[in-house]
Amino acid sequence: MASPSTTARLAAISPSTSVLELPGVKDMIALRLDRLGITTVRDLLFHMPRRYEDTRVLTPVAQLRAGEVQTSQVVIRNVTVHRSHVKKIWLVEASLVDGRDVVGAVWFNQRFLMNQLRSGMEVLVSGKVETSRTGLTFRNPTFERVGSEQRHVGRLAPVYPETEKLSSARLRSLIEPLLPLADSLPDRLPSEVRSAEHLMGIGTALRQVHFPDDEQSRARAHERIAFEELFLLQLAAQRARRRRLSSAGVAIPYDVEVARAFAGSLPFQLTEGQRVAAHQVLTDMAGSGSMNRLLQGDVGSGKTVVAAMAALMAHRAGFQVAVMAPTEILARQHQATLTQMLAAHDLAPRLLVGSTPARARREIVEAMANGRESLLVGTHALIEDDVVFSDLGLVVVDEQHRFGVAQRQRLRRKGALMPNFLAMTATPIPRSLSLTVYGDVNISELREMPPGRHPVATRVVPPYQRDEAYAFIREQIGAGRQAFVICPLIEENDKLGVRSATAEHERLRDDVFPDLRVELLHGRMPSREKEERMGRFARGDADLLVATSVIEVGVDVPNATILVIEGAERFGLAQLHQFRGRVGRDRHRSYCILFQSSIDDEGSQRLETVAATHSGFDLAEADLRLRGAGDVAGLRQHGLPEMLAADLLDVAMLQRARAAAEAWLDHDPELTSYAPLHEAMTGYRAVFDLD
Ligand code: ADP
Ligand code: MG
Repeated sequence: MASPSTTARLAAISPSTSVLELPGVKDMIALRLDRLGITTVRDLLFHMPRRYEDTRVLTPVAQLRAGEVQTSQVVIRNVTVHRSHVKKIWLVEASLVDGRDVVGAVWFNQRFLMNQLRSGMEVLVSGKVETSRTGLTFRNPTFERVGSEQRHVGRLAPVYPETEKLSSARLRSLIEPLLPLADSLPDRLPSEVRSAEHLMGIGTALRQVHFPDDEQSRARAHERIAFEELFLLQLAAQRARRRRLSSAGVAIPYDVEVARAFAGSLPFQLTEGQRVAAHQVLTDMAGSGSMNRLLQGDVGSGKTVVAAMAALMAHRAGFQVAVMAPTEILARQHQATLTQMLAAHDLAPRLLVGSTPARARREIVEAMANGRESLLVGTHALIEDDVVFSDLGLVVVDEQHRFGVAQRQRLRRKGALMPNFLAMTATPIPRSLSLTVYGDVNISELREMPPGRHPVATRVVPPYQRDEAYAFIREQIGAGRQAFVICPLIEENDKLGVRSATAEHERLRDDVFPDLRVELLHGRMPSREKEERMGRFARGDADLLVATSVIEVGVDVPNATILVIEGAERFGLAQLHQFRGRVGRDRHRSYCILFQSSIDDEGSQRLETVAATHSGFDLAEADLRLRGAGDVAGLRQHGLPEMLAADLLDVAMLQRARAAAEAWLDHDPELTSYAPLHEAMTGYRAVFDLD
């Protein structure tokens, strides 16, 4: 395939070579490649085609039909160029001859083709055929000389994810000469795994995926590359899991009497979901190794109650508990809730946040270090170095996706033995993905809401219906209710959204609702002032509260029944659903109004999905379907290497990869018998505890 001269040139190139060192790659192209995530030769080799153009079936010119993409073998004649009168663009035209039959061809704005199209040249031409005033015509077809190794036409030609000014044709020309290198890549799949799973080697797979012999080889090549990704992921996850379970962790005996007494002291009955989740948590904590469990449930589903029961169990067993939340407002809210639920059991949580005064802080830090206090609630302030625990047995992290792995680990490492770990989130990862992303985590779900809660009626409102929506809000406020207004970040240099919220506050106060009390809240305010304003709203001394999204409006104001979101299309589906949890906390019917500032079909469809879906779990699945599995926000956010070929929704392959990973770990738990595997694990350090 490669000529002797390319072989010589390839000798100097390795997979880690920068694309800039490749012949013909100038800075501009390197920049464009970078936009596709490609910086090295290896990245180029693993740039997976999105689809393929099948240009193998040749259609004689006499049989061409209008409206379809077709490929013909023809001779070029009569190449001309002129400027169109109407649109002032350059048109290159040619006649394409096949024996006695002729078809036209036209290219728009590609004047340079005049240098490539030579009369008498025999080419394969492929593209859409349309009817023009002169008869059938290929529009903007791709073409390639007959005879040479076919790169673009007359084969299954890969179509890549492209970027501006970097076409698939160009990518093919960059990738093809590198393919001989694929054979020298270390194969990350050990030969034992490959033969057990009937998978080809990485060299063959890469050659076939870029230049397939046929559809079947292409499919098998793709399967092989996808399997490798899932195998490595499972290997990392299962290895972390085995280590966790086999290393000494804090064991907290499951005292059924304590659990019963706690449930009995609540002013309500636990939901079935809470009972099951609590039982799972308490069982894990009592088992060998340390717990690693994620509790998923919509805002208001009652996760804190489960955490409180676990905290009490740890305390009774003589251990300390740390509860960490991403914002000060949330931390304060947790402290208040936990105080309320645990007071009857002689357990009083302490609060440590950024704004805790130095004296109070010193006292708290000391009390935790010598074991005088056992429950500490707070923000990032908890992971500072001088915060130490005498006997940490349980770590609870709320909205865990808002923290990095390293931050979670730092808190966990404050225990002498590995403490139990309970993460909570109201942004569930779709079930189909949980196997992947949380390969080392057990999951509990609260799918039902406590009784008496109603779904929030949600409506998408286009700009021209704004007045009707305001009339409705006025009516509700007239009936004694209150409203939140959330503003998006619009300008790049308005990172905290201060400007957009301030402007919206003025507009609502002065123009829309001059007769109502409109309050403003944003992140630039000192926390005293924030609390004051929040307090006014909570007491009912304000009708509307305008806030930025940066402020998680963590207050529980049951009388607020309207949630207005400005520029709703700027938010993610999960985030919109999170906001929605701010209302619907009372017997009153609640409403969510999604103001759309621009209208496009895709945006509208996303918002309509939010309106039609009430469960965070269902919404996560819907989001995944809308985005496609390749673009799951969660993955990067969780620090995982990007999946280039694998479909994370392919449960069958996931399970196959997991079984293979388990089998490998059974005989090589430390991954010492095959170096490429061991090296591949570095990509997963950020997610799984592998050291
Ligand atoms: P989450 O943390 O999941 O958002 P919380 O634990 O803060 O939810 O609970 C939300 C509200 O519901 C709290 O006011 C809590 O007291 C109440 N609650 C929790 N569980 C129940 C239940 N089983 N029955 C009635 N109310 C409940
Ligand atoms: Mg909560």
